[in-house]
Amino acid sequence: MIYDYVIVGGGISGLYAAHLLNKSQQSFCLIEAKSELGGTWKSIPYKNSLFELGPNTIIDSSVDLQELIADLNLEEGILKTSLAKSKRYIFDEGKLKELKPNPFALISSGLISAKAFLKIFTEPFNKKISDEEESVRDFATRKFGEEPTHKLLETFLKGVWAGDPGKLSSEFALKFLVELENKYGSIFSGFFSQMLSKKEKKKKKSIISFREGLQFLTNKMAEQLDENSLKLNYELDSIEKDNGDYVLNFNNNEQLKAKKIIFANKAYEAAELLEDLSPELSQTLSDIYYAPIALFAYSLPKSKFKKALDGFGYLSADNNFETLGTIWASELFPERNLDDEYLCLSFIGGAKNPGVIEKSEDLIWEKVVLEQLKVYQEWTDGDLETGDFKLIASKKIVKAIPQLNIGHGEIIEKLEELSKNQAPNFLFTGNYINGVSIKDALARSKACC
Ligand SMILES: Cc1cc2nc3c(=O)[nH]c(=O)nc-3n(C[C@H](O)[C@H](O)[C@H](O)COP(=O)(O)OP(=O)(O)OC[C@H]3O[C@@H](n4cnc5c(N)ncnc54)[C@H](O)[C@@H]3O)c2cc1C
Repeated sequence: MIYDYVIVGGGISGLYAAHLLNKSQQSFCLIEAKSELGGTWKSIPYKNSLFELGPNTIIDSSVDLQELIADLNLEEGILKTSLAKSKRYIFDEGKLKELKPNPFALISSGLISAKAFLKIFTEPFNKKISDEEESVRDFATRKFGEEPTHKLLETFLKGVWAGDPGKLSSEFALKFLVELENKYGSIFSGFFSQMLSKKEKKKKKSIISFREGLQFLTNKMAEQLDENSLKLNYELDSIEKDNGDYVLNFNNNEQLKAKKIIFANKAYEAAELLEDLSPELSQTLSDIYYAPIALFAYSLPKSKFKKALDGFGYLSADNNFETLGTIWASELFPERNLDDEYLCLSFIGGAKNPGVIEKSEDLIWEKVVLEQLKVYQEWTDGDLETGDFKLIASKKIVKAIPQLNIGHGEIIEKLEELSKNQAPNFLFTGNYINGVSIKDALARSKACC
């Protein structure tokens, strides 16, 4: 049998491609190296709650996600919190400060000074003077000034990219703001125009998950596939040309034949598979750098807190801190609350601190604990102790988050051009092409099918 498509990788990108091909009744096979689907997604039940040792939530504004949930009839299992209601904090100058959309609150919390706040209003006049692609830092500093850029934007982006703001491309990491400036001449004008448009008014974004965690979604997607179209423990080792088709060789000595291959694995994994068949494509894919990250899931006793952990979590604006941020996993949705404990998930590492990942997990954990003691000092009156931290699970991901750095646009142009001219039957999806979020990965998979 020759499949029309073989999809390499059973993370959300590959599963969504499989879902769409299944829907349009095409012949395909999704192959996954591991015994389990979901890729970076890992939902782990804990007592009456649950935490995610990977992505935690999805923004519900993705039309693809909405369609997918409707296709699978999963509306009932959804957990939802409005973005506006989910409190976020920034750890700055030794304190947790609430990030409020109200500018006066930002000033009174000390997150930004009144002078820096006033500078924000000069945004419409701060035009771009050269054609050069700007980093996130250069773009935001030009538009809003240094203080808000560092304290707010760069800190916020730590939570999404774990990246280096001096290197991340504004065209990818701040796509929405760059597009507003390009289209309306300034970000403020863009916001006001959109607010006035009825369509934009209606949108209220929420973050969602499922009662059984994000992996519930990937499990349900897999249930739609029969044994002919889904193969687990199939690690693709090599690809050979066979007339106009391809023979795929797996580590279990099995072979499959396909007309087209959708690569839904990471860029560097696809690069390795293409080394012999298409060295130029392989080199282009391997130019994409992935930042490392380590995750620690642990519980803390509620009794030690004078002020409750009440929101999504915090991100650190402190450059001397190694912890990028912490998600208060048991507080994301009321259905996940526990009686006596808080479940927390701390992230450490990133593009600016790749060395930390080379240390042993024990050493990194020690660091995480010491830093959290400082973060919660005020909220616990200093009562929290090292022994209060109960480690539940941890994970080091050496190549975790693709960095869409300056020059990424050229990499993607080259990738599109090479695949069109040299390998039109190779398609590429994932979170390293147009954006890092699950929403971006879904959109890219749709473009491949
Ligand atoms: C720690 C972390 C937290 C994140 N948090 C969020 C979040 O909260 N919200 C959000 O929107 N995004 C988040 N992201 C980004 C999000 O995880 C990704 O956009 C998305 O999950 C990527 O999925 P994927 O299917 O493209 O890749 P992956 O999940 O990496 O899946 C690739 C699959 O390919 C398989 N594979 C690789 N090579 C082969 C081979 N040779 N043969 C067969 N199979 C192979 C792998 O085993 C894997 O299952 C996070 C990412 C990380 C790392």
